[in-house]
Amino acid sequence: MPALRGAEERIRRRVTSADKRRIEEGSQLSLDFSKLDGVGGVVPVVVQHAVSREVLLVAYTDEEAMRESFASRRLVLYSTSRRERWEKGATSGCRFELVEARVNCEQNSLLYLVRPWPEGASHGICHTRDASGAPRASCFYRRIDFGTGALAE
Ligand SMILES: [Zn+2]
Repeated sequence: MPALRGAEERIRRRVTSADKRRIEEGSQLSLDFSKLDGVGGVVPVVVQHAVSREVLLVAYTDEEAMRESFASRRLVLYSTSRRERWEKGATSGCRFELVEARVNCEQNSLLYLVRPWPEGASHGICHTRDASGAPRASCFYRRIDFGTGALAE
């Protein structure tokens, strides 16, 4: 089974790599409705800026990542594609402090209020970059046309 999973991962990565630019920078809606197929043990996390209240990111966490995030007060999440815990900004240096965590009525999703870390930093949260080369402030940088599905910044 691990070998099979490895092969699936390689195929998934190749597709992801080929489609990455079209998905992240393109102007047509191309939603991944199978994102959570075969993924268990996670809940969605809405990540919001603690001061501006802008919604920055929607991600997922498992229980272990949640506990680590609460203990470290850093934004720690679970990658459903890599199937591993990760700290936002661990490689880029654009880390976030977890200021507050809230849970929804049915206790099946979380809301994290965060701010760039260290204090006073103003880096964006998205792994994509804007025209100036800086990480985008929010992942939701494109608006969808209701009629055509066309995307515009
Ligand atoms: Zn993003």
